[in-house]
Amino acid sequence: MQEVLLCKCGEIVLKGLNRKAFEDRLVANLRRRVRRIANCPVSLRQSVLFVEIPEGVDADAVVEEVRRVFGLASICRAAVCEKTLESILETASGYLADEIAFAHSFKVETKRADKKFPMTSIGVSQHIGGELHQRFPALRPDMHHPELTVHVEIREQYAFVHAGPTPGAGGMPIGANGRAALLLSGGIDSPVAGYMMAKRGLELVGIHFFSYPYTSERAKEKVLELGKILTRYVGRMPVLVVPFTKIQEAIRDNCREELFTIIMRRFMMRLSDRLAAEYSCGGLITGESLGQVASQTMPAMAVTEAVCELPVFRPLIGMDKEEIVQIARKIDTFETSILPYEDCCTVFTPKHPNIRPNLVKVLEAESHLAVDSLVEDAFSDVERIILG
Ligand code: ATP
Ligand code: MG
Repeated sequence: MQEVLLCKCGEIVLKGLNRKAFEDRLVANLRRRVRRIANCPVSLRQSVLFVEIPEGVDADAVVEEVRRVFGLASICRAAVCEKTLESILETASGYLADEIAFAHSFKVETKRADKKFPMTSIGVSQHIGGELHQRFPALRPDMHHPELTVHVEIREQYAFVHAGPTPGAGGMPIGANGRAALLLSGGIDSPVAGYMMAKRGLELVGIHFFSYPYTSERAKEKVLELGKILTRYVGRMPVLVVPFTKIQEAIRDNCREELFTIIMRRFMMRLSDRLAAEYSCGGLITGESLGQVASQTMPAMAVTEAVCELPVFRPLIGMDKEEIVQIARKIDTFETSILPYEDCCTVFTPKHPNIRPNLVKVLEAESHLAVDSLVEDAFSDVERIILG
């Protein structure tokens, strides 16, 4: 039996004149993503995306993949059949045999995209419902709270039979809102922040600051593993690994301890701002959450982002750790994030960080550092890795 996924677009239907561009992007994204599994033809007709599943292809794997594509509101896995009552009935009986065996009550719901079809939707539902009840007498008709709804969609060329939609990933197609750089540490928060912004239609470029030998090769591998998990949702993603050791040592040797973290974070933002521009990114993304640590107070964030030209997106800013952990579990990054490898933020951590840093004092402290040449050095040694 020929199977197909009928995918309904989400928020992009609100986009008026831009709709065509959004839809084209969604089709392209969907094509690229299903190609990871098999060569499934993808087409858009009457605002529905069709993913055909050729004979012999693992349909479950295709569904898994499509469920992670942003921009889709819902997905129906359906059987294709001729536009005749006999064919619809046979297909419903066979294709939905498992669902029918488990359900006690049912109804049939018909949609007619082909208005030339000679019967009304209600007529089709009544006919198919009556016949199914005769074939499966244990299946009781229930128009209000049926355990099983048999969906029949009559479209231009074919009819489709399915047991109802499952939710899609929601959000907007990746790239529809441009590209941004994700500051990716090995922690719980930053992968979640990346996922959330990608869901709003951003393509991602990862940036990781690496302080070898204070942090180990294993710590870097962990970050790349997190990046790889993210590619299941965001597709291809470059990750830039920036050497950070010399900068941290310079800060340690030349600045007051209570300012270590804030100055280090300003270097991260400075470097990210420049790398982001090189990759045509329109913003930076961090996993900061208000008050979570000393560097995430309002004054600290103000001093940190004063070095950037690009807007800084912090999608977790108003979330509790528990809420963040829930998403990390859902997107499958949590178990990797809690592996016990150190992050450069925990190297040279001051005992009493300043939670209300003052920009003038921070600038004064930075005047004892060769900021420009430290930035140039780090910049010239960036390792570029493509994931996905
Ligand atoms: P996470 O759980 O994501 O590590 P965190 O709560 O540990 O976050 P910080 O260590 O203060 O918080 O970092 C705040 C944000 O700064 C991170 O979410 C991330 O976006 C960025 N960041 C921290 N360390 C690095 C790093 N080594 N490389 C790239 N970005 C980093
Ligand atoms: Mg961290």
